Amino acid sequence: LLMAYDPARRLARLQVSLERAVVNARMLYEILDTVPHQRDRPDATEIKLGEATVELRDVRFAYGNGEEILKGVSFRAEGGKTTALVGPSGAGKSTIISLIPRFYDPHAGEILIDGQNIAGVTKQSLRNGLAYVSQQPYLFEGSIRDNIRYGRPEATDAEVEEAARLAYAHDFILAQPEGYDTPVGEHGITLSGGQRQRLSIARALVRDAPILLLDEATSALDTESEAAVQKALEQAMSGRTVIVIAHRLSTVVNADKIVVMKDGTVVEEGTHEELARRPDGLYARLHNLQGSADTPAEVQIL
Ligand code: ADP
Ligand code: MG
Repeated sequence: LLMAYDPARRLARLQVSLERAVVNARMLYEILDTVPHQRDRPDATEIKLGEATVELRDVRFAYGNGEEILKGVSFRAEGGKTTALVGPSGAGKSTIISLIPRFYDPHAGEILIDGQNIAGVTKQSLRNGLAYVSQQPYLFEGSIRDNIRYGRPEATDAEVEEAARLAYAHDFILAQPEGYDTPVGEHGITLSGGQRQRLSIARALVRDAPILLLDEATSALDTESEAAVQKALEQAMSGRTVIVIAHRLSTVVNADKIVVMKDGTVVEEGTHEELARRPDGLYARLHNLQGSADTPAEVQIL
């Protein structure tokens, strides 16, 4: 216990969390960025999206020269279906999500979308097909409208409003002093956690991308916000290929497929019913933990 208060260790831990925050912000920008500033292979082609099935085949990855974080990960996220990634913290879930927009490239193995290896397509065409909703929604200086339109700069006002309606954000936006023109960000009005999340979901919706990468929030919202965010997410997920890092039991139970990860490998895969039936499985153990009488249904499985 004493060790935990060692300043050097605390600093090291802070460093790690800062690096991750930077990674998240960079992911948001890089997915949304329409200017391809990272070089493509000279023979790169535009990706052609149909049902938008994502497949990882024996993917291996390490950050820099560090230890291997993904040790041969394979799974398929079917087009139009929801695939939930679950497992203990540090298992490699966020790392997987960051490989899909090619924020990093696997060291071995491949990632295919509708059969096309993403290493051979232009980053711009790849990222045009993706939307990302992070755990910690980021709002920048500007109006509410600007913040939603950032998802697709050419979107019309009507399209921005439509996305806001679908994200259950329209009503609270109209209640702001200047409606859609109300400034947010550091110098703007303060929005609640749930409102920020709904704006970030509206930003993803206005992109209308076939693939949604979702890192579910771990921090609890008030009950009313929670319900609104849940409904907004259901809108965003419907009809898309969703890969969600799931922290809420309800998301996991409703997913078409659950991929259980541990230490950089997939240890189990199946539906909630299938996995809950395996008495010695990691998922069943996580699930039983959740289901104990004194635990609320909506607790987090980290
Ligand atoms: P999860 O999302 O399942 O909690 P992550 O993919 O975030 O797991 O992390 C997997 C491992 O990779 C952890 O050991 C973590 O410390 C490490 N890691 C994550 N991001 C970085 C990074 N940017 N640089 C170095 N190591 C990282
Ligand atoms: Mg993570």
